[in-house]
Amino acid sequence: MDSVVPVPVVPTIPIHGSEAVFPVRRIYCVGRNYADHAREMGMDPSREPPFFFGKPHDVVVPGGGAIAYPPATANLHYEAELVVALSKGGRDIPVAEASGHIFGYAVGIDLTRRDLQARAKDKGQPWDTAKGFDQSAPISPITPVSLCGLREAGAIWLSVNGVEKQRGDLAQMTWNVPEVIAHISGFVALAPGDLIFTGTPAGVGPIVQGDRVRCGIDGLGELEILVV
Ligand code: MN
Repeated sequence: MDSVVPVPVVPTIPIHGSEAVFPVRRIYCVGRNYADHAREMGMDPSREPPFFFGKPHDVVVPGGGAIAYPPATANLHYEAELVVALSKGGRDIPVAEASGHIFGYAVGIDLTRRDLQARAKDKGQPWDTAKGFDQSAPISPITPVSLCGLREAGAIWLSVNGVEKQRGDLAQMTWNVPEVIAHISGFVALAPGDLIFTGTPAGVGPIVQGDRVRCGIDGLGELEILVV
């Protein structure tokens, strides 16, 4: 059947050690999932239920590289995050079964227009323009669980121009990965191809044109972007 506009392309992420790719369906992101980051954002890090926001799937930047400084902001922030890639979906996935839905993991940066986010919070408005803009989700190649095992602990770090800005451990998440998967699946049906950004440790901050941002997670490799 003819399409009246060009058929949108499904974005894909490379897989470490394979010629195959991971097609991206949806992107879910967890807010304030490390207590030290919740505190630096002026929030109480008590274990309230996790909350989520989304990014459109076509904002991924596979492998990182050059990122154009986005319009309409004067305060672009980095957030280093573990990204979980799902091989199986479902509704009401029990915590005890959630790990079986993971295809693999990647290193991601949840780029954020912090000024627009602050304005949205003040006015009780949605975060879409703060979080879901073009090129707002650089992501490394995915490492399959079959190669790296389940990642429940390990260092996560980020540097800007060689200066370390963030360092945490995956074990510090307020809600761990199985709990996050179980929780989201209580609201929507998850599916193969979904990505989940699992939150960032403390140390978020601004980046400007010319900055080189590198981040990594133990066992999952590194991701680098250059803001142009
Ligand atoms: Mn984030």
